[in-house]
Amino acid sequence: MTGLINVSRLRMLGKLKCLDEIKAKAWLVVAWMAISQAVCVSCSAKPTDSHHEKNAVNGSDSVSQDDVCNDGKTATLDPSAMSGNASADAKDFKPGEIVPEDVVGNTEVQSWFSVNEIDDSIFKRIWKKSFKENCTVPRSQLRYLRILHWNGDGLTQVGEMVCNKIIADKLIRVFKKLYDANYKIESVLLVDDFDADDVKSMNANNTTCFNFRFIKGTKKTSCHGKGLAVDLNPLYNPDVRTRNGKLIVNPEKGREYATNRKSRKDIPYKIDRNDLAYKIFKSEGFSWGGDWRSIKDYQHFEYNGK
Ligand SMILES: [Zn+2]
Repeated sequence: MTGLINVSRLRMLGKLKCLDEIKAKAWLVVAWMAISQAVCVSCSAKPTDSHHEKNAVNGSDSVSQDDVCNDGKTATLDPSAMSGNASADAKDFKPGEIVPEDVVGNTEVQSWFSVNEIDDSIFKRIWKKSFKENCTVPRSQLRYLRILHWNGDGLTQVGEMVCNKIIADKLIRVFKKLYDANYKIESVLLVDDFDADDVKSMNANNTTCFNFRFIKGTKKTSCHGKGLAVDLNPLYNPDVRTRNGKLIVNPEKGREYATNRKSRKDIPYKIDRNDLAYKIFKSEGFSWGGDWRSIKDYQHFEYNGK
């Protein structure tokens, strides 16, 4: 009996001790919450936010000008924020991103133009899209290009392209010369970003090269299927042909740019025989679809290995 009382008394004492501990801990929690809800007068960040932790390491609680209040979120790449950053270079920018002038000025322009093998990350993007399951061109025959181009707003933008390795160096020279001459190309992204749908890509005036397909009604791989043809600024330079007396324009959205092209001065990005892109592509051995007789494919430059 006595033994039982002692045990229960001990248990009670134990509980009381625990309660005291809980109360003490509760006060600590309340105090911590009060501190953590306080706000930094310099930048409205809480003391628990990342810049304070960083400064605590430095033994200072001041906020430097370089500090950015980001509430602990990972900083996203903002090209305007890269302005003046001498250490930024080509690999810091994704395709489609605008590159500030001074960033380009701090680098070798040639470093923005590169020929690369199709690595796994690129292959993942093109597999079952432009690189279809029945693709007759081996992956090792293709190359991934990165370039710079002037977009429609006159800003420098990063471009990308998959092409046949036979023309990789040629295309690098073409796009470098066009860049040096301030030639405008609205968008240069993989057709895979448009579900490998040519019409979607053309409607966005996107310049592309490789997209595997056979020539309609044959088992012959088309020029684009081999990665040997480029469609440049396609919306304003459509493919035009006559079928059963009807004018077929591809993309249909570019119909207003299909006719009377010789005399017209209202077509942006217009390719004709006086155009610089025409001259540069020709100098690298490409033929132009606008020179064909039955069909006029004004956007199209292809390489036949001659
Ligand atoms: Zn084409």
